[in-house]
Amino acid sequence: MDIFDLVVIGGGAAGFMTAVTAAENGVKSIKILEGSLKLMEKVRISGGGRCNVTHASWIPNELAENYPRGGIKLLESFNRFAAGDALDWFEKRGLSLKIESDQRVFPVSDSSLDVISCLKKNAIAKGVKISTKFFVKEILKTPDNLFTILNTDKDSITTKNIVLSTGGHPSGHKLAKSLGHRIIKPVPSLFTFTSKETQLNECSGVSIKNIDIEIQINNKSFKNRGDLLITHWGFSGPAVLKLSSLAARELFDQKYKCKLIIKWSDLEYEELKEKINKIKLNNGKLNLINLRPLPLLTKRLWIFLLNKMNINKDKKWADLLANEREIMINSLLKDIYNISSKGPFGEEFVTSGGVSINEVDFKSMESLICPGLFFSGEILNVDGITGGFNFQHCWTSGWLAGQAVSELFNKVTNQ
Ligand SMILES: Cc1cc2nc3c(=O)[nH]c(=O)nc-3n(C[C@H](O)[C@H](O)[C@H](O)COP(=O)(O)OP(=O)(O)OC[C@H]3O[C@@H](n4cnc5c(N)ncnc54)[C@H](O)[C@@H]3O)c2cc1C
Repeated sequence: MDIFDLVVIGGGAAGFMTAVTAAENGVKSIKILEGSLKLMEKVRISGGGRCNVTHASWIPNELAENYPRGGIKLLESFNRFAAGDALDWFEKRGLSLKIESDQRVFPVSDSSLDVISCLKKNAIAKGVKISTKFFVKEILKTPDNLFTILNTDKDSITTKNIVLSTGGHPSGHKLAKSLGHRIIKPVPSLFTFTSKETQLNECSGVSIKNIDIEIQINNKSFKNRGDLLITHWGFSGPAVLKLSSLAARELFDQKYKCKLIIKWSDLEYEELKEKINKIKLNNGKLNLINLRPLPLLTKRLWIFLLNKMNINKDKKWADLLANEREIMINSLLKDIYNISSKGPFGEEFVTSGGVSINEVDFKSMESLICPGLFFSGEILNVDGITGGFNFQHCWTSGWLAGQAVSELFNKVTNQ
């Protein structure tokens, strides 16, 4: 019977990083078991086909701040392998990367296929064996501390070490649970918001830079500042995706019903009142529609907001009544929308939840419950906001798990 030194379950980003790292550091017999026919399918579709590999955030503390779940534990990992290390890792293995103006890192070729090919080529070159259509159903720990892995056809494979890299797939959670781990209920993160505000689709495509938005769920408030995009179903853009991540659990509990509050102006009440009074005085002959009080409001958006405020857009500024001015100020400072559900798809959908991080050593990614069992990637209760942070976690946890298995392997072979 062949006994592998390492079997990685899941042929995604994290699984491949784990296998390549272990192979490059001396581990001899490694196998990746992938349940589907396709390897690294999520890498292929990521970043709109470009794959946002990581984020140019070089300081571990700052990098860790981009993970609503993972917190202090991630710092232990990032102190060993962070974004700069990932960038170097890929460059040294032939994948040229570029940093865009918003600090997101992409392949120079703008093709996710090159990320896949880099990982696959390096795995094969180092002798990693890959089986597709091997869907792992069961893992048994033997009395002599080996693992027996069974697939749906009851084919079995035996290994000394095992890394679970099954992403957000429920089967991976089930396998981790069977080996003694607690699973934090998986819920979606990074999604857009649907609003039933019927006229909103007139503003579809309008994007606004750097504004404050807030969601209120029961009595809890989550705030963020960033770019907002109005879509034909509601709201999207980085500001919304980040809020969805910050409030992923609370939104799930409330069936994605909440209030979204948009502050269209950086001015406070008195400043905005003064500004509007000045327009009334100096440009009173102009119609409301022809003079927007805030530069960031596009014409379409301004017309929509005037309609929402029930103020006649053809009215002259001089004729704006005192109560209308109050409505205008209050709406521009606190514009409220009822969010009815999640949007139809996520730009960078990830699972929040998974294997409890308190049961894993974040320096080696080894289970604190079951020796010889390791984790890498999205299977853990770690998730980041958009911008390359979710792949960075795959590279970091994969590298650490691969290193740790190789240290165990080398210790045993040198004895
Ligand atoms: C549309 C989209 C775009 C994204 N874009 C980005 C981006 O640009 N940047 C970024 O940082 N993040 C992005 N993400 C998130 C990122 O793709 C994930 O965080 C990342 O792919 C997780 O990698 P993983 O290896 O942990 O899991 P996965 O990629 O999910 O891989 C797990 C693998 O395990 C296999 N598997 C599961 N169960 C079993 C089993 N029982 N037996 C055998 N095999 C099994 C699955 O088939 C799968 O191939 C995006 C996600 C989506 C959906």
